[in-house]
Amino acid sequence: MTTTHLLAHRALIAAALAALPVAGCANEVEDEIDFFEPEDDRSNEALQGLYDCTEHSDDGYRQGSRFDISVVTVDGRPTEVDTANAYIAMQDAARRDGVSLRIVSGFRTNSQQQYLYGCYVNCNCNSCNIAARPGHSNHQSGHALDLNTGDSGVSPWLSRNASRFGFSRTVPSEPWHWEWWGDDEDYDGPCGDELSGGGGGGGGGGGGGGGSTPAECAALPAAGGIIDDGDGCFVTGGPTQYLRAVEGSGHDGDLVWTGTTNHAAAVNFAEWHVLVPAGRYVVEAWIDADVATSRQATYAVHHAGKVDRVVVAQTSSGWKNLGPFTFADGGGQRVRVDDNTGEAGSLGRQLAFDALRLTPQECPRLEVVTEGAPLNVRPAANTSRAAIGTLADGAVVDRRSTAAGQSVGGVTDWHQIQTATLVGWVSGAYVTCTP
Ligand SMILES: [Zn+2]
Repeated sequence: MTTTHLLAHRALIAAALAALPVAGCANEVEDEIDFFEPEDDRSNEALQGLYDCTEHSDDGYRQGSRFDISVVTVDGRPTEVDTANAYIAMQDAARRDGVSLRIVSGFRTNSQQQYLYGCYVNCNCNSCNIAARPGHSNHQSGHALDLNTGDSGVSPWLSRNASRFGFSRTVPSEPWHWEWWGDDEDYDGPCGDELSGGGGGGGGGGGGGGGSTPAECAALPAAGGIIDDGDGCFVTGGPTQYLRAVEGSGHDGDLVWTGTTNHAAAVNFAEWHVLVPAGRYVVEAWIDADVATSRQATYAVHHAGKVDRVVVAQTSSGWKNLGPFTFADGGGQRVRVDDNTGEAGSLGRQLAFDALRLTPQECPRLEVVTEGAPLNVRPAANTSRAAIGTLADGAVVDRRSTAAGQSVGGVTDWHQIQTATLVGWVSGAYVTCTP
């Protein structure tokens, strides 16, 4: 940051302090404000809209006092569980309005805040940006989220709608900094109820029913198989007059369709319950585009305590790859599709529920082999763009897919990898398959 910028920054901060309706000395006020201006490196774009309700406890801080905080992962970012539920509801509502919300920075640990504060005091990192004292940032309380307000439409949408979900802007000079101070009773979000094994809904909320594996659902073998509509593991929900069974179309000559809606809650839905030996499986959905016309069917994959959502245009026929997912032993795991895709009923779009295929994934994980050097993770299958992260030698990561790309020492395979915080591409020259 140049001197001019720093002065401008300080002027903004002075304006922010002057505008705050809080009594007390300036230092106290400053401590409670998050002055860390986040760089949106967009490294979690591929994780946008995904959440993992697996909770871990961490040290939260409010005004310097430590307390236990429960943290889940949303958009690939650590987020306090109640804030996460409210954010997921808000993100769903924004998506129905065509606006993509993404968390840039969520819960921050004390050591992260110590680092940022040290950068400010010593002016040797993070552009010397002002940071709150360790224990005093609202990102440590779990209530603060920095959002992608640099993206078009995000700020105006938040200004109009965020208060409905308990979010408000608390720092006038920071349009990206939103805090949730709502009531967790107001949000029936997917996280925070570990007993339910990943929660219901998977976005959109409502819809009712679903979740528990039907008694007549037979387990698939380790070789995988197909769950078709009409099978014991397939369940529909909602008023039956809106569910149309069609013979002579779809996989094996039948499918069920319903009209799409842009309502907040689902009315009709379908669930394919998944009982398989623990392992990693590629999940595909059969689409018959003679009947199906939804352009944004959302498949919520509830697997091993996580929920991943994949949006599919049901506009061309064939098997659509939803991706590889890790399934655990036991019930409660399923793929769910709700009718509230965001497409208004007046569009006359048809959402089809048909066969689902599970196939064990070859080469489910990759191990980094680099003789000690960090391996760059790229946004595409070549080295032309800057790395979005690195993997340590010996690291084991999930493989999502493989494609041909730039030759590295004669190896043209590139693998798309996924960690809890990163999705990107690595050259096949530096990884090896591992179970
Ligand atoms: Zn912030």
